[in-house]
Amino acid sequence: MIPFFNYAELYNQNKSKYLKIIEDVCSRGAFILQSDLEEFEKNSAKFINVKHFIGVANGTDALWLGLKAAGIKPEDEIIIPSHTYIASAAAIHFVGAKPILAECSDDNMLDVDDIEKRITKKTRGIMPVQINGRCCDMEVIEYIAKKNGIQIFEDSAQAFGSKYNGKHAGTFGLFGTFSFYPAKLLGCFGDGGALATNDDELAEKVRLLRDHGRNVSGEVIEWGFNSRLDNLQAAILNYKLKSYEEDIFRRREIAQMYDDGLRNIDSLDLPPPPSNNSKYFDVYQNYELRAKNRDQLRNYLKKEGIMTIIQWAGSPVHSFKELGFEGLSLPKTDKFFEKCVMLPMNMTLTNENIYEIISKIKNFYSK
Ligand SMILES: *Cc1c(COP(=O)(O)O)cnc(C)c1O
Repeated sequence: MIPFFNYAELYNQNKSKYLKIIEDVCSRGAFILQSDLEEFEKNSAKFINVKHFIGVANGTDALWLGLKAAGIKPEDEIIIPSHTYIASAAAIHFVGAKPILAECSDDNMLDVDDIEKRITKKTRGIMPVQINGRCCDMEVIEYIAKKNGIQIFEDSAQAFGSKYNGKHAGTFGLFGTFSFYPAKLLGCFGDGGALATNDDELAEKVRLLRDHGRNVSGEVIEWGFNSRLDNLQAAILNYKLKSYEEDIFRRREIAQMYDDGLRNIDSLDLPPPPSNNSKYFDVYQNYELRAKNRDQLRNYLKKEGIMTIIQWAGSPVHSFKELGFEGLSLPKTDKFFEKCVMLPMNMTLTNENIYEIISKIKNFYSK
């Protein structure tokens, strides 16, 4: 049995260390906005080479707090790919603005050729989603943003440590956001998130917004909210960050194994392998590919004890009619969702697991 993700195993592998951290933090009574959070913020800022890294309650909050701090208002429009989590669109919705949905390109990212035609007088920004641990084509997106005088807000929830031209995901636009949901690349034991920015003013606003509008002296100087990253979660994350380079190395190794094993199957379109293009440094939050006879493949693998997942339960944002996306035609994205599937990609997989998955997939297509 190879589960898609094994939450318990991930904890149990390192249980005694985690228990020590929990004991240490709790016995100090260090729960809200304490030194472990400060340290995690400092270390993460250094890791992705950004000036400010601010822990918040989750990745969705990070997006809307950033948009709020950026002054996004009702009537404003922001362009996002339809192949994203509903959270990207919801964050835009909850600052009163409108998510404008765009197509998916051949490497499963926001299609940069589909952005400019969606720009109107109301467009305030582009939100590239750095999906599956890969960056969008940021050179082109930066060019389009500059040319049209609009901002870039990165949803890099799935891309902590990913790089493009040597620059980290989350550091391209006015701000970038991260999620520490347990199944994410850097996962905690519950919800967690962060916002990264090089803009001092935006950072100051987000720090106020996440803590009831209170400044360092505790005075309320603005309307604020409560969206803090728990100190206990930060302590866990700070510990995991120490070996995070090795985690990335392992994920890239697994991706290369999948690529080596599956590359010659004509019925599959694989994501770009780690060895492919020096411009992209992908960290493989997910291994998402396109497969002919996808549903039959999934059923076969399931019978063999191998679990797969279709991202967003198979529903791109433009399919949510109840949210007002009726009548929007995105044929490239629809096509993608007919064939897309994600193979297991996580830190508890063994090499034997990967070989078994590859061999079962080969079996399926040789029949
Ligand atoms: C996980 C995720 C989010 C939301 O993060 P939460 O921490 O669950 O709120 C946003 N966008 C994308 C692309 C994600 O994968």
